[in-house]
Amino acid sequence: MTSPLIYDLTFDDLMALVTEAGESDYRARQIWDGLYKNLWQNPDDFTNLSKTLRSKLVELAKFDAVTPIQKLDSADRRTRKTLFKLQDDLSIEAVLMRYDRRQTLCISTQAGCAMGCVFCATGQMGFKRHLTSGEIVAQVLYYARLLSQEGYQVTNVVVMGMGEPFHNYANTLSAIDMLNDPEGYNFGARRFTISTSGLVPAIRRFADERRQVNLAVSLHAVDDDLRSSMMPINKKYNVEELLDACHYYIDRTGRRLTFEWALINGVNDTPEQARKLAQKLKGMLCHVNAIPLNPTNGYSGKSTTHERAVAFKGTLDQAGIPCTVRIRRGIDIQAGCGQLAIGED
Ligand code: SF4
Repeated sequence: MTSPLIYDLTFDDLMALVTEAGESDYRARQIWDGLYKNLWQNPDDFTNLSKTLRSKLVELAKFDAVTPIQKLDSADRRTRKTLFKLQDDLSIEAVLMRYDRRQTLCISTQAGCAMGCVFCATGQMGFKRHLTSGEIVAQVLYYARLLSQEGYQVTNVVVMGMGEPFHNYANTLSAIDMLNDPEGYNFGARRFTISTSGLVPAIRRFADERRQVNLAVSLHAVDDDLRSSMMPINKKYNVEELLDACHYYIDRTGRRLTFEWALINGVNDTPEQARKLAQKLKGMLCHVNAIPLNPTNGYSGKSTTHERAVAFKGTLDQAGIPCTVRIRRGIDIQAGCGQLAIGED
C-alpha cells in the first residue's frame, strides 16, 4: 500500500494513522501543530518528536505534495508565479500578489481545466485531473513558509488559478476546511474567495452550506449567444439559470457576490454591453470586478483600452452597481487572470 500524502489527512485520519502505527494519540496533535502552526515541511523538521518517530514518519506519509520547479518574479517584484510539480509529474501554477498590506495568493484546484473558456490559457490546455485536497493545501503552506521568512503572512486566498473549483467541489472545500481549522493554520473563511465559471448546481449547494467563504462568478457576458461563444458552460447553464442561482446564493447567505468581467475590446466592453449588464444586476447585492483581458496565445481578442474601461465602469456606477476596474498584475510573467498554463510559451 502506498503511503498517503500528509496534507490529504484530516486530523482524525492522522490520529488513526499514528495509533495504527503503535504511537500514542497525542502524537497526532504534535504532528498537526508541526504542519499547520510551525509550517514544518519535512519529517526532519519535527523537533517535537523523537528521532525514531521522525524516521517512522517518513514511512507513514509523503510530505512532498507540490515541488517548486520554477519561480518567476514580475519586473516590479510584486508578483511571483511558481510552477509546481506534482507526485505524478503533472504541473500546476500558483501566484502570490503583494500589495501594500495584502499578500494574496491565487491557487489552483485542477491540473488543466475542462471548462474550455476561450480566452483562458488553462482552458486552452484541456483537463488533466483534479487536485487532491492536500495538493491544494500544500500550495498555501508553501507560500506561507516563504512569506514567514520575511515576517509576512498570507492575508487572502483566491481560488482562481488553474481549474474550475466547483468541478472539484469536495476536494476544494475540504482544503478550505483544513486551512480554516482553528487548531491548525486557522485561516479565516472570509479571507477565501472561490471563483466559478457558473456551475449552477454547485452554486446552489454552496449557498445551502451557508459558508463564510466569498464567491465570485465569471460572467463576462449577459447575452446567451455571446457568453456561450466565450464560455461553453453557458450552453449547459444559461445566463438566466446562472443569475437565478446567484440570487439564491445572496438570499440564502446574505453575502455580497462578485461578478468577474474580462473586458475584451469591442466584444463586451461596449456601452451597450455595460447597459445590459447594469439592467440584469439591478437591485442585486453584488459588485463587478472588471478586468482588462490578459493576452493568451490561443485567443485573438484584445484587451480593452483605459478609456473604454473607465466608460464601462461609469455606466455601472450610474446605475448604482459598484464596479472596480482591477489593476493588472504579473502580465510580464503570464501570471495574470486566465494566463496560467503549462507549456504554452
Ligand atoms: S477561466 Fe477558469 S473555468 Fe474557464 S477555462 Fe480558465 S480555469 Fe477553467
